[in-house]
Amino acid sequence: MQAISVYCGSSPGLKPDYAASARLLGSELAARGITLVYGGGRVGLMGTIADEVLAAGGRVVGVIPTDIAEREVQHESLTELHIVASMHERKMLMTKLSDGMIAMPGGLGTIEELFEVWTWAQLGFHSKPCALLNVDGYYDQLLAFLDAMVSQRFVKRIHRDLLHTDTDPAALLEWMQAYVPVTADKWLDMEKT
Ligand code: AMP
Repeated sequence: MQAISVYCGSSPGLKPDYAASARLLGSELAARGITLVYGGGRVGLMGTIADEVLAAGGRVVGVIPTDIAEREVQHESLTELHIVASMHERKMLMTKLSDGMIAMPGGLGTIEELFEVWTWAQLGFHSKPCALLNVDGYYDQLLAFLDAMVSQRFVKRIHRDLLHTDTDPAALLEWMQAYVPVTADKWLDMEKT
């Protein structure tokens, strides 16, 4: 595992625990020699994790669309910065440059990025591990809804389980480094189970 994408808020969020967890994940990445791939901004948790990896001597690769560079205040000290034309290109390139993807607390953009890459895994477009760092129960209600999606037979359990959840950055990275890809057909079949 050489590089991991982290999706997280362009805001810091309410609780200081969110930034503390971003710093912890950043220092764990640097300590393991894993490159951080992220959205390239300097604001919110995005900026916090990038700063932490750089301060710990690690590598950070940013991928930012031209029209967003100003709004999210493009980070000026990254190891590498890719300026792309659109959000679609950003997501494609971030996935291509990474061996795994992690979502931390964040807003609509964070959720959108996670769900897109997770649905790509479901469709078999990639077999890279996807994980959620659930800081302070931020994602508890989403996790409950995911169970409802399975029990209502809109999502297969095996696809639900493609998203691993942990509250501890080190444990999450250990899971990711030991990941063995799983494949399963997308479509729920007609069997009565
Ligand atoms: P947010 O979680 O809304 O604070 O946004 C986190 C990151 O997701 C920011 O870098 C946003 O630019 C990015 N983002 C927002 N909307 C999208 C989208 N539709 N596709 C990809 N990234 C997005």
